[in-house]
Amino acid sequence: MKPDEKFWQTKTLEELTSIEWEKLCDGCGRCCLVKLEDEDTGAIYDTSVACHLFDSATCRCKDYDNRFKKVPDCLDLDPEHVRKLTWLPDTCAYKLRMEGKPLPDWHPLVSGSSQSVHEAGISIKLATISEADVDPETLGDYLCDWPDEAKQSD
Ligand code: SF4
Ligand code: SF4
Repeated sequence: MKPDEKFWQTKTLEELTSIEWEKLCDGCGRCCLVKLEDEDTGAIYDTSVACHLFDSATCRCKDYDNRFKKVPDCLDLDPEHVRKLTWLPDTCAYKLRMEGKPLPDWHPLVSGSSQSVHEAGISIKLATISEADVDPETLGDYLCDWPDEAKQSD
């Protein structure tokens, strides 16, 4: 890799070190949303309900190191998942790189700020309710289309 090249521009997902893999996540939090599946079509829809371990104020997992112990169905994302999962948002950095696309300006690796994903309106920060506070029977009331493009700045 040349000195001016960035790892996310040159490496495939399979070639990333574990530290680089973690850095590639933009911190949008959308994979922590509870999803609903249409039993007839198999289509998967986002809600505005988040995992009970998700901290809406920081947009982070409250116990990232122990997440698999505390939430057995938390996804341990890997390149194979990125290739196969249909519900990852189009903005997901892993999906973009898998498709050979560049990271957007608001990605923290590009902007240099961990806040840019929130400022661009891509993250779910302060926009969800915890699954702990929702009756599972009413999840259908929380269907939500999250934006795939950064909001325009004023
Ligand atoms: S959707 Fe992708 S980029 Fe966003 S938090 Fe999940 S893994 Fe990271
Ligand atoms: S356990 Fe943590 S990382 Fe996994 S879905 Fe819940 S909040 Fe997200």
